[in-house]
Amino acid sequence: MANSIDARGPLQDKLNRLLRDLRISVTDRCNFRCTYCMPKEVFGPDFAFLPHEELLTFEEIVRLAGVFARGGVQKIRLTGGEPLLRRDIERLVSMLAQVPGIDDIALTTNGSLLTPRRAQQLAEAGLKRVTVSLDSLRDETFMALNDVHFPVARVLAAIDAAAAAGLRPVKVNMVVKRGVNDADVVEMAEYFRGTGHILRFIEYMDVGNSNGWRMDDVVSAGEILERLNARWPLHPVAPARPGEVATRYVYDDGGGEIGVIASVTRAFCGTCTRARLSPEGALYTCLFGTRGTDFRTPLRTGATDDELFARLQQVWGSRVDRYSELRSDATRPARPKVEMSHIGG
Ligand code: SAM
Ligand code: SF4
Ligand code: SF4
Repeated sequence: MANSIDARGPLQDKLNRLLRDLRISVTDRCNFRCTYCMPKEVFGPDFAFLPHEELLTFEEIVRLAGVFARGGVQKIRLTGGEPLLRRDIERLVSMLAQVPGIDDIALTTNGSLLTPRRAQQLAEAGLKRVTVSLDSLRDETFMALNDVHFPVARVLAAIDAAAAAGLRPVKVNMVVKRGVNDADVVEMAEYFRGTGHILRFIEYMDVGNSNGWRMDDVVSAGEILERLNARWPLHPVAPARPGEVATRYVYDDGGGEIGVIASVTRAFCGTCTRARLSPEGALYTCLFGTRGTDFRTPLRTGATDDELFARLQQVWGSRVDRYSELRSDATRPARPKVEMSHIGG
C-alpha cells in the first residue's frame, strides 16, 4: 500500500516528485572563504561553527542513509562546507557503499585537500565521482574569489589526481559572477575541451543571506551559451539521468561535453528529486529552505528505523518547495534561508 510504513520504492511529494538523491553535508566548516558563499565579513574568526558533538557521527549518517534508501534514494553526494575537512571521510564512503540500494556516491570539493593519495583512497572506498569547484584559471581572480590566496595550480592538480584515481569523468563547477570572472568563461572552456572533464557553468545564486546577491550579478546560461557557441558550435544532449541539475551540451567538433546549471533563469524545480541533510542531522527539502526537520534527536533518543522512515515519509509527502520557480514573484515576502555552506550545493 502506497505510503504505508512498509512502502518500498520512491516516496512522492505533493508535486509528484520522487525522492531519489540525498546530499549530505558532513561539515559546516571550510578552509576557503568564497565571496559568494562564506564571505569573510560574516564567517570571520568569531563565527560559531558547530561543535563536534553536534555533528552526526558516521554511524548515524549511515543509518539515516539506509532509511532514505528505503524511501527511494539511490544516489548520495557528500558535500559541505568542505567535505574533505571531515576526518577519515574515506571510512564514511566505504560504510555508505555498503548500504543496500545506494548505487552511486559522489563528492563535491574545492580540491584543496584532494591529493593523489587521498583520491586513490576515496576511489578504493567506493567513491564513484568527484566534482571540483574552480572559478577561474587566473590566480588573481581565483584568489580574490576564494579569499584565502589559494592558487589555481593546486586545484588543477586535484582534478588530475581525481582522474588518475579513476573518478572520471571529473566535473568542474564554475560559478559565474558578472564583472568578477565572466570574462574567463571562454578561456575555461578552452582549457577543459578535449580533456574528458565536464565543465559546468553555474548561475550565481541567491543562496543564504550573506552573499549580497543581486540579479545584475547573474550571467544567464543563455548568455554563457551564446559566448561559447560563437567560438565552438554546440548542441544539446538528453539528460544522463532524470532530475539532473545541469543541462548538457556537446561541442559539434567532438571537443567533449559541458553543462549549464541555470537555477536562476531556467528553474528546474519540476524535476527536483533532491533531499539535503545538514551536518547536525536536519533534513531540508530545498536548497533555499528556511527550516529543516530534526532527525538527530530521534536518532539519539532510540527511534526505530520504522519511526525514522515514518518521519521521512511525512516530510517528503508534504513537500511543495519550488523556490527557484517562484523567485521572480515580487509579491512574495523575503524570508531567511539556510546558508549554502551549511547544507551544501
Ligand atoms: N566546498 C565544496 C566546494 O566548493 O566544491 C562543496 C560545497 S560548495 C557549497 C558546493 C558548490 O556550491 C560549489 O561548486 C560552489 O561553487 C557552489 N556555490 C556556492 N555558493 C554559490 C552561489 N551563491 N551560487 C552558485 N553556486 C554556489
Ligand atoms: Fe567553501 Fe565550497 Fe563555500 Fe567555497 S563554495 S566557501 S569552498 S563551501
Ligand atoms: Fe529543488 Fe528547491 Fe532548487 Fe527548486 S529551488 S530545484 S525545489 S532545491
